[in-house]
Amino acid sequence: MKPSTNMVLADHRLSLEIRRYRHPMEPRNLANEIDLESVLHLIESVKSAYPVVRRFYRLKAKLLGLKKLSDYDRYAPVGGIQAGIDFKTCRRIVLEGYREFSPRAAEIAGEFFDKRWIDAQIRPGKQGGGFCCQTTPDLHPYILVNYTGSLRDVMTVAHELGHGLHQSLARRAGILESDAPLTMAETASVFGEILIFEKLFEGEKNPQKRLGLICGKIDDNFATVFRQIAMTDFELAAHQAGLAGGELSSRTLENLWMKTSAEMVGDSVTLTEHYRHGWKYIPHFIHTPFYCYAYAFAQLFVLCLYQKYKADKSAFVGRYFEMLSLGGSRRPDELAALVGLDIRQKEFWQAGISFLETLVGQAERLASK
Ligand SMILES: [Zn+2]
Repeated sequence: MKPSTNMVLADHRLSLEIRRYRHPMEPRNLANEIDLESVLHLIESVKSAYPVVRRFYRLKAKLLGLKKLSDYDRYAPVGGIQAGIDFKTCRRIVLEGYREFSPRAAEIAGEFFDKRWIDAQIRPGKQGGGFCCQTTPDLHPYILVNYTGSLRDVMTVAHELGHGLHQSLARRAGILESDAPLTMAETASVFGEILIFEKLFEGEKNPQKRLGLICGKIDDNFATVFRQIAMTDFELAAHQAGLAGGELSSRTLENLWMKTSAEMVGDSVTLTEHYRHGWKYIPHFIHTPFYCYAYAFAQLFVLCLYQKYKADKSAFVGRYFEMLSLGGSRRPDELAALVGLDIRQKEFWQAGISFLETLVGQAERLASK
């Protein structure tokens, strides 16, 4: 028995009853300023694309020289880890990528380097990870990363500078409205990452390295899109089981976890006995129920956004800046409408999913060479 999880479920149940929510996800949707239908469309669209996950994991097993992946193999890097990129080179790569998108974006990002607003050096006692800290709108943001010279770290710098760009632009919206809701907060960061990825991928001529790059990108995207939706599916199943039957045993929760994970990977990955406990280490289930779908939302939203950019670069850039500078002063659907996207449409998410399918197709072609 996991008493804390049952307490979370019971507390959530009570809150739904007292406040007359129709669905377990509604309190989170309210905070995210998104309607239930849109979230259900997102979940449905992602789940119906689960076969592409299996397709990639079968390919990845081959590339790693395995018969079949086990759960712990899924994020193993194909072709090893690319490292040895000094911070000066990182700066050049990131700023060039931003500049090709828009000189204004490079100017804002460049200020973070020039004015030393990025704490990148590794020191004993320094906090791990990376983030961009928004202060108050009268001050600029600060970035913390732990730069080791890997390609992943270059992506992290590009990611955090995206937050920096977003937060710098949204200062205009004022202290009460500059903060973007969870669903939109990762827009510029993920967009920045894609810009740099495409630049590196286009520039790389070695097929083996191209394959490594693209597999890394797919790994990240799958973790953010498919895995987070499988987690949301588990969480929903747990809350619904709790609603129907009160307290749940650890075994029941484990079974739900295995079932929702197996639905995603099918027979392409062996889910080991240890994997049964995976749900226990996800803090969101305890502290912020139904947080996870926002990751998938944000990632797919940005992939759709990126398609828009590719289709008409000159019309896109100005609207994109306008959208970012509004911060959280409009609802996500209103912000999306500014760049010509309608997130309420059932088919909306398909553009992002198709992009992922294209990446898997590219990886398959590179692997066959
Ligand atoms: Zn981020």
